[in-house]
Amino acid sequence: MSSDEDKSVRRPVITIDGPVGAGKTTVAELVSSALGFLFVDTGLFYRAVAWLMLRRGLDPGDETAAAEVASGLDLELKRTVPGAVRQMVVINGIEATDELYSPEVESAVSIVARSPKVRKALLPKQRAMLRSGGVVVAGRDIGTVIWPEAELKAYLDASVAERARRKYDERVHTDGTADYDEILGLLQKRDRIDSGREVSPLRIPEGAEYIDTDEMSAEAVAEVIIGSLVRKVRVKPAKSIAFD
Ligand code: C5P
Repeated sequence: MSSDEDKSVRRPVITIDGPVGAGKTTVAELVSSALGFLFVDTGLFYRAVAWLMLRRGLDPGDETAAAEVASGLDLELKRTVPGAVRQMVVINGIEATDELYSPEVESAVSIVARSPKVRKALLPKQRAMLRSGGVVVAGRDIGTVIWPEAELKAYLDASVAERARRKYDERVHTDGTADYDEILGLLQKRDRIDSGREVSPLRIPEGAEYIDTDEMSAEAVAEVIIGSLVRKVRVKPAKSIAFD
């Protein structure tokens, strides 16, 4: 086999990092579906730990307890059925998809995620899901810490007002009601914690493609990412993402 052929059959990893509400999940779903890749949303690992802690009556700020919960975490991501809003998540055998987005988990998750012990416990579990390639993986530290050797690294950004608006629309869609100011406040707080923490803070990875999504649709962002991948590793999309 020639080296060109080797390249065309390699199964790449695409990392998508960025702050809350930058559109990572929607874009990652579009890209993974177009390429026939798996989608791994690493935020779910931290949400799962926060959810388990709240369920067990533990304080999310208790690092030792959080690290123990993270070490014992068994997370299964089930492929979403077409049209489903979220990936189905099974935590230690319990289906918990919707509860991972409750206001209680939203408030606790960044506190849990700033613990170095928790991050250390979750790192090998995340890497294990990426090893076989053919994966789109979204998070905060994927291109910097979890998989810096990725074939393509993207960093999605948007203004805080636009990100809060997107979260607001999402919440109205799922819960029928939402409070914009409350969402904006929570988002700013999570931004501060995610960017300010000592271990694996949110940063633009070296060599990443920076995409300002303020004025872009998710489809347009997905097209940019797929275009970059096609140029870089000459992978062919399984299907077109020409949306109406
Ligand atoms: O992406 P999502 O909003 O679901 O992530 C929830 C939280 O998990 C983030 O606010 C962040 O604190 C944490 N997280 C992280 N590192 C990742 C993914 C998520 O610290 N790779």
